[in-house]
Amino acid sequence: DRVNNPYDGAQVYVNPEWSANAAAEPGGSRIADEPTGVWLDRIAAINGANGKMGLRDHLDEALAQKGSGEMVIQLVIYNLPGRDCAALASNGELGPTEIDRYKTEYIDPIAEILSDSKYASLRIVTTVEIDSLPNLVTNVSPRPTVTPNCDVMKANGNYVKGVGYALNKLGDVGNVYNYVDAGHHGWLGWDDNFGASAQMFKQAATAEGATVADVHGFIANTANYSALTEENFSINDNVAGKSVRESDWVSWNRYVDELSYAQALRNQLVSIGFDSNIGMLIDTSRNGWGGADRPSGPGATTDVNTYVDGGRYDRRFNTGNWCNQSGAGLGERPQASPEAGIDAYVWMKPPGESDGASEAIDNDEGKGFDRMCDPTYTGNPRNNDNMSGALPDAPISGHWFSAQFQELMKNAYPPL
Ligand code: BGC
Repeated sequence: DRVNNPYDGAQVYVNPEWSANAAAEPGGSRIADEPTGVWLDRIAAINGANGKMGLRDHLDEALAQKGSGEMVIQLVIYNLPGRDCAALASNGELGPTEIDRYKTEYIDPIAEILSDSKYASLRIVTTVEIDSLPNLVTNVSPRPTVTPNCDVMKANGNYVKGVGYALNKLGDVGNVYNYVDAGHHGWLGWDDNFGASAQMFKQAATAEGATVADVHGFIANTANYSALTEENFSINDNVAGKSVRESDWVSWNRYVDELSYAQALRNQLVSIGFDSNIGMLIDTSRNGWGGADRPSGPGATTDVNTYVDGGRYDRRFNTGNWCNQSGAGLGERPQASPEAGIDAYVWMKPPGESDGASEAIDNDEGKGFDRMCDPTYTGNPRNNDNMSGALPDAPISGHWFSAQFQELMKNAYPPL
């Protein structure tokens, strides 16, 4: 029987491979014992790609770390056909039509391993297919933010089928807790995205044999940088006769931070038929925005822009920026039940692992070069034509990026 919040009263698995990378960095031992997500980002990751631990290795190690208490292990299910349709940096190994391989070579083997009775005492959190469903809402025709690949994935239905299949199969395992990816406030917080995304999540959660009962919750801000709480301004503030919603930064969004977004989205999801006990996770791995440049109070009340820009913690050029953001820091340390409706703050994206290469780098992982990772790039409609804000000299996504890890520690908030 599943518990309401798997994180309550439980330790969370420390991935020894990430931990070793962190501990090898100067100062890294301060956080090397934090739990991070295990990304199953290709079929070969199930058995262990390039000499790395496979899924059974991680589960066995989780049992060893567990001792006599409760233990959560956090897995990221991330290998859809036509993956990352609005970007190139995390394009994957499966082409847009390869839904059958996704089912039989990826989800089925994972489900089989997770259902091994040996692992029945673990609480297995699966976060399902980061960025996929939101892309079907915001980055399709006739939106100005459309990409051809997202139109393809919407038309062929393979994201919806893949997510439905994953939820159904993984949900059949009694100690698996499925959390569906829910983007972040700076993506889905606008009126034309919010309700439509909730509907899209429901469509996927009722596809391919899945039901809403297969969904234990949702995860916001995975691998993103949106601030947890902007304390120096609120969505209800008015300055010099204007709402903060009219500022360039907020730009008519309904939400200014992840906590308010996650709580509101939870209510929306319950209102359309998800279980009233669903819980939210928020990825706080890289949304701390501390360091010397963190504002200590509200901005000047000259106008809404001075007010918001002077006070906001999130120092990106635009909330559409997602790659290796300059100035970011580690966020809240992982913890259970931090706020109403929130099952946990988690570090699903392992800090120090790149979001994408700054320039084209040959690789055998299917990863493309996305100019949103190039610090000289001046943008596209998805970041409202802003500079990318990316750090230079980054390796391909998922690979260790020492300079970013150092900056994340330097700008941690709460500080280390
Ligand atoms: C990459 C994955 C990687 C994950 C965690 C993603 O952006 O595409 O390969 O495992 O980040 O770092």
